[in-house]
Amino acid sequence: QAKASGRNTWELHDSSQSDPAVDRLQLLGELRRAIAGGELRVYYQPRVNLRSGNLTGVEALVRWEHPTRGLLPPSDFIELAEESGLIRELGAWVLDEAVAQAVRWAAAQPDRGPVEMAVNLSTRQLADPELPRRVGSVLARHGFNPSLLTLEITETSLMIGPEAALKALGALKALGVGLAVDDFGTGYSSLTYLRQFPVDELKIDRSFVSGLGINSGDSAIVASCVQLAHAVGIKAVAEGVETEEQREALIGLDCDLAQGYHYARPLPADELASWFAMESPDRTPTASGAAAL
Ligand code: C2E
Ligand code: MG
Ligand code: MG
Ligand code: MG
Repeated sequence: QAKASGRNTWELHDSSQSDPAVDRLQLLGELRRAIAGGELRVYYQPRVNLRSGNLTGVEALVRWEHPTRGLLPPSDFIELAEESGLIRELGAWVLDEAVAQAVRWAAAQPDRGPVEMAVNLSTRQLADPELPRRVGSVLARHGFNPSLLTLEITETSLMIGPEAALKALGALKALGVGLAVDDFGTGYSSLTYLRQFPVDELKIDRSFVSGLGINSGDSAIVASCVQLAHAVGIKAVAEGVETEEQREALIGLDCDLAQGYHYARPLPADELASWFAMESPDRTPTASGAAAL
């Protein structure tokens, strides 16, 4: 029996108490096995053209189907992966799986326009000098058109330093892939790097989108983000669109693309089949004019 001797050493052996450091170590071991053992899943969230409502592509979002803890969101393990360096393997797996899926969709739906795929990159991935070569080899292996892939980078990741970031983005850009600034408005150096870095789209953070029509400050921020994007010749994407009011407000502000629960939650690949069946290709019909649904 534990003696409450005034020292807390016995607590270490009390299974009802958990030590965060021990938990972390256990989770790390589990995550390592999960990557190798196929417990990771990629969910896909549709991205739509705001005006037409048509599907333009999807964003790949990783999940961990943990054998006992259930389906875990990225917030439960991405940071750990990042800190431990496992993000390299995890990120490589997600990219490979997402590109493979885009190729499967394209093959299954030859009459529809190609599906654009967006994949998130973490800071450590961006800082990895091998990243561009790896991305290039994934594209080549799957025969995927680089212009259909967009890599999403947060403002915070760009804090690896302007030279390093510029070098990494330049090398990725040279592959022909698109680049997006994720969670725009939550970081710091927004204006400077939009001019400096070769990005193609700006994703307005959900925290501002959710205040549309309710909070005039948020509405003004979203309006200026859209204007800013257009001023530098790139697309504005609204994240986390949940209501019809937000959708209408965004159309009024001339925002280009949207994602959010209003359209669809992130879904497993097979559950997106109905989206592909339902939505006509979001592109102007060619002269040969295969009529859309
Ligand atoms: P993110 O890239 O900004 O992705 C958007 C997040 O918002 C996703 O959360 C998505 O499920 C959620 N979301 C989308 N629409 C709505 C909405 O209408 N309302 C609300 N409340 N939420 C919405 P998720 O999937 O939990 O991912 C969280 C973050 O984890 C992502 O933020 C991204 O930064 C990171 N992440 C996800 N997958 C990966 C990955 O494969 N690699 C890396 N490095 N990071 C990833
Ligand atoms: Mg993202
Ligand atoms: Mg985001
Ligand atoms: Mg976000």
